[in-house]
Amino acid sequence: MPDDALSQQALHLLQTVFGYPAFRSQQAQIVGHVARGGDALVLMPTGGGKSLCYQIPALLRKGVGIVVSPLIALMQDQVDALEEVGVRAAFLNSTQSFDEILEVERRMREGSVDLVYIAPERLLTQRCLEVLEITPIALFAIDEAHCVSQWGHDFRPEYMRLSVLHERFPDIPRIALTATADQQTRQEIISHLQLENALQFVASFDRPNIRYQIVEKANGRKQLLDFIEAQHKGDAGIVYCLSRKKTEETAAFLNEHGIPALAYHAGMELQERTSNQSRFLREDGIVMCATIAFGMGIDKPDVRFVAHLDLPKSIEGYYQETGRAGRDGATANAWMAYGLQDVVMQRRMIEESEASDLHKRVLGEKLDAMIALCETLSCRRVHMLGYFGQASDPCGNCDTCLQPPTSFDGTVAAQKLLSTIYRVGQQFAAGHVIDVLRAQETERVQQWRHHELTVFGIGIDKSEAEWRAILRQLIALGFVMVDYEHYSALRLTEAARPVLKGEEKIRLRQYQKAAKAVKHKRQS
Ligand code: ADP
Ligand code: ZN
Repeated sequence: MPDDALSQQALHLLQTVFGYPAFRSQQAQIVGHVARGGDALVLMPTGGGKSLCYQIPALLRKGVGIVVSPLIALMQDQVDALEEVGVRAAFLNSTQSFDEILEVERRMREGSVDLVYIAPERLLTQRCLEVLEITPIALFAIDEAHCVSQWGHDFRPEYMRLSVLHERFPDIPRIALTATADQQTRQEIISHLQLENALQFVASFDRPNIRYQIVEKANGRKQLLDFIEAQHKGDAGIVYCLSRKKTEETAAFLNEHGIPALAYHAGMELQERTSNQSRFLREDGIVMCATIAFGMGIDKPDVRFVAHLDLPKSIEGYYQETGRAGRDGATANAWMAYGLQDVVMQRRMIEESEASDLHKRVLGEKLDAMIALCETLSCRRVHMLGYFGQASDPCGNCDTCLQPPTSFDGTVAAQKLLSTIYRVGQQFAAGHVIDVLRAQETERVQQWRHHELTVFGIGIDKSEAEWRAILRQLIALGFVMVDYEHYSALRLTEAARPVLKGEEKIRLRQYQKAAKAVKHKRQS
């Protein structure tokens, strides 16, 4: 078919079947390329419109479009939505009866279905591969392709084995799609799925309607409540927490204060989890307090804010989680409270994990990049897009653009802190070190006679919170490390030496006392 006729047909399907007037950004090129039989790797942010990139080519080509997706819970909804517009769709996953599976297999063989969503573990079974051998196949779409990345938090071992599609069906076009854009993940997708010859389509990852704010954590929960009350009364939002327990505690706390909130985590009974999720989707103004188990594939356009009470493990995670805000294009907030404890906790979790040394190193680098985003003195968006390899100008819609943080010459403060760590023998954790700096004669200080040290009280000019903020930055900058095997004792690194000797100056971010969130002027 000539290119023109193909694009005409694609547009016709878009308008008559899906009811949209025009393709968005790169959709038309992607659809054309795949419909003509090419392989593609599509990197597009959540809400960008990835589904049409494989749905329309599947309709344009002969045979059945096979969509590999890990999101079993959403398959029924996806199929319903397609059938509603007259596309013949089905799915195969572990929730079905044998009869249902037989029926779908029959339709596949006959080619009397347009799209079939298949869970990866199902697809890899001998039985399913045999059915595919005798099915006329239009294309393979590999959705959430970042699940192939061993270093990401959505890793699914079965994804690694999807290269079988290329090996057994070399002539069928494949399109891999993800909203995760960093170079490493991209490389892993290409190599594990054997997509070396695929054309890459990289959309802009900017989400201009999202305002990014990262505030110093004092009392996270209370700060969250203030933030919601000031800017998001009655809005739907998601609050991400690190632990299951904390999701429940936070939901209870918000409810006590008149904010309707629910919890969601993988440890909950399936029924409760599902019911909370559907209440969040269907009712207005519910705040979901969740672990990162919540969110992949959730399509709720009017989430007005995403809050983080704990530091995400990577910029990819942060970007994906915050990306669930404002999918309708209206203004939305991404708000996070971040403090010393987050750095200590996340580093410790990596340290204590079962991962190999290489894996730990990669996780450590990802965490460092996330911390650098929190500590940056310049535009958050520029920093984040830069991490995804996209250059941009200061956005005017993040906290550092709107209220530029001030920095100060932190050399003397750093020297005081570093020498105190040194004087107490590098054997004590943050609390004690700060007590010594601030001349707190605690029992422990007396027990170790640390009030007799020359450094005792040299930091009396600053509050405990200020010292914590300084220490946090010194850890982030790599001058101090925490020894998790030794009661979280603070230790100096090699990098601390030139600072102590006065050979190196350091600039630190000025502590902002319980920084007020920057207010968003509501458009709607
Ligand atoms: P993604 O999978 O990238 O997160 P979806 O495919 O779910 O995004 O699309 C997000 C939303 O945008 C959906 O509601 C979809 O119907 C809509 N959409 C996608 N493409 C277009 C388009 N060309 N015109 C209008 N709406 C679109
Ligand atoms: Zn900015």
